[in-house]
Amino acid sequence: MTNLPLALRTALEAEVPFSTLAVVTEQQARDGTVKTLFRTHDGHPVEAVLMRYRDGRRSVCVSSQSGCPLTCTFCATGAMTFGRNLTASEIVDQALHFRRSVPLNHLVFMGMGEPLMNLDGVLGATRRMPAIGITHRRTTISTVGWMPGLSRFVEDVAEPIRLALSLHAADPALRSELMPVNDRYPLADVVALCRTHWERTNRRVFVEYVMLAGVNDAPAQARLLAELLGRDAFKVNLIPYNPTGKYGGSSREAIATFKAELDRAHVPATVRLTRGRDIAAACGQLAAVPRARAPEPVSS
Ligand code: SAH
Repeated sequence: MTNLPLALRTALEAEVPFSTLAVVTEQQARDGTVKTLFRTHDGHPVEAVLMRYRDGRRSVCVSSQSGCPLTCTFCATGAMTFGRNLTASEIVDQALHFRRSVPLNHLVFMGMGEPLMNLDGVLGATRRMPAIGITHRRTTISTVGWMPGLSRFVEDVAEPIRLALSLHAADPALRSELMPVNDRYPLADVVALCRTHWERTNRRVFVEYVMLAGVNDAPAQARLLAELLGRDAFKVNLIPYNPTGKYGGSSREAIATFKAELDRAHVPATVRLTRGRDIAAACGQLAAVPRARAPEPVSS
């Protein structure tokens, strides 16, 4: 801003931070996906991911918390220390970081944290997004089914924001094993609220279902899922498991068979494209730790 006196520019630079977040590192995956690690002014790590698709979609995946207090067994974020909720500005600044180099048109709250534990921060940020080109219809909030935030979201929020539910198992006992939060809020209540969101907005709720070999990927489990969801209000996104240690991912064939069961029951389903796995930027891999180096070859 050379129209301002140099002394003022210098003072502004020193005293008014340009962003609430400082960039620590940035990595680019082979598929072009970019992952950025930031630090808040009080030292909490935050990651965000930019995904570019051939059809022109440019989607930013943002974090709503530093770390996550929930402990889903398949997710790396749950294993790091929980910091705190992020402010609306700290969420907006993740998107603005990428927006400086490329125009954005989609935003998903699928980074670190549980967005509906931080509804005020998340809504505050969402409401500022249209100003940078991301409409509410192209904004998705993903939740484990955190009821206090979910009921407020479904009952009080008028904007046509897309909702996604991380479901992963239709059988409550299995879901509790995978996601301890399931003991707190019965799945039937969560699904009923999601259905209300569909009734009010006429927008299908996306169901995220990570495919774990021999755990939740049997055809009978697909039929149970179809029964729970019905044909009208949901669309299932089958997510290939991104390795985080504990499980094995379902084979291509198992995923196809599972999807065929959903097709037969007329439940819409797609398989999610995996992006950024080589830099640990894919679903469930955000843990704010530098990528482990490949082991040195052992010589005898
Ligand atoms: N806490 C919210 C927002 C995070 S979204 C939620 O859980 O919905 C991140 C998505 O990636 C969730 O659907 C999560 O269940 C899924 N996920 C977590 N670990 C994964 C893994 N290792 N492989 C694939 N998907 C994973």
